[in-house]
Amino acid sequence: MRLASVSHLECSLTGKRYEAGRVHGLSEAGRPLLVRYDLDAVARSIGKEALARRTDGFWRYREFLPVAREEDRVSLGEVVTPLIRAPRIERRLAGGPLYVKDEGRLPTGSFKARGLALAVAMAKQFGLKHLAMPTNGNAGAALAAYAARAGLRSTIFCPDDTPPVNVEEISLQGGDVYRVNGLINDCGKIVGEGKEKVGWFDVSTLKEPYRIEGKKTMGLELAEQFQWELPEIIFYPTGGGTGLIGMWKAFDELEKIGWIGGKRPRMVAVQATGCAPIVRAWERGEEHAPLWENAATIAAGIRVPVAVGDFLIIRAVRESDGFAIAVDDDDIRGAQKEMAREEGLLLCPEGAATYAAWRRALADGLISRADRAVLFNCATGLKYPMPKAEKFIDRTKAIDWDLFA
Ligand SMILES: *Cc1c(COP(=O)(O)O)cnc(C)c1O
Repeated sequence: MRLASVSHLECSLTGKRYEAGRVHGLSEAGRPLLVRYDLDAVARSIGKEALARRTDGFWRYREFLPVAREEDRVSLGEVVTPLIRAPRIERRLAGGPLYVKDEGRLPTGSFKARGLALAVAMAKQFGLKHLAMPTNGNAGAALAAYAARAGLRSTIFCPDDTPPVNVEEISLQGGDVYRVNGLINDCGKIVGEGKEKVGWFDVSTLKEPYRIEGKKTMGLELAEQFQWELPEIIFYPTGGGTGLIGMWKAFDELEKIGWIGGKRPRMVAVQATGCAPIVRAWERGEEHAPLWENAATIAAGIRVPVAVGDFLIIRAVRESDGFAIAVDDDDIRGAQKEMAREEGLLLCPEGAATYAAWRRALADGLISRADRAVLFNCATGLKYPMPKAEKFIDRTKAIDWDLFA
């Protein structure tokens, strides 16, 4: 099978080459495989002007993606997600231009749609029938939806305290979903063991090569939205890190074909203080991040105690002159409330974590007041439990109009 402009795959740790056109999981070294392209062929096949005329969400970047056949492209009406300025907050905190990239507008309400659309399309292309994954919620929802669309089976395992709406959404979309009394890495173990016993294909974060290609489209999209002049800094809520690694890969590919110059954003990995393995490793100057014990945070999407792509996240942060920073759940709640009230944007807790991190970085002088910053709101806030709102009017009694004054 000849893929689009894919030349080969490559182990992200050892550089060993793997043949394209075959089903792959991790490399022999147990690390993520990265897709490599014939970038000259990519550059010859599409230009910026032609691209600007396209309308079909992230599939507009198809020349940069591995899906070869039109009929394998699975689509649920993807959109280019908006960049929304936060002018009141900029003024109040005397910060630089602040943009929220609102990924909650994608199908299934999160940016997991990007990665799973690609993983499912490639699974379809390879004739795989049954996909399985561990999830904190959003990835499972995207897998269930895109698998249903492609006519594939999906089996999904999530920690038992995953937001209920996600579990129900997965089930309603035809995913066979199980709650597990453990964390995402415990769920991942079940998926790994089931490869032999059941024969499903493991689509865990970075354990197959194509979700990262989907997440890469965030970097392509940002570059295009900023007229090919990237912003100075990106705050990314980091769990498995696919998005951060994927954007870094996108910038690399764009630079190699000459669409952007050498100026790259500083990449900031944001985690929660209750689960911050990457921040801890970065602070210690290490490349690998051992398992974080007793991981706990309201930001479910970044409650990832151990990441197979740890060294790739840390390298991108370091090469970009970025940093890793942790914020606590109270900061996250406060940041969510501020952004909702001041700007009318309902961030998910993970997205709110990036705003909390920007606020702190600004106050601590880690970023300059001239920096254009992008915060990733990776899912719609509607998918998470919200603070109660319980005011009540008994219409049979006299109304106290002073309440509304
Ligand atoms: C998955 C997820 C993340 C983390 O994304 P990675 O690229 O895996 O690090 C952050 N926020 C939300 C809402 C998510 O669903």
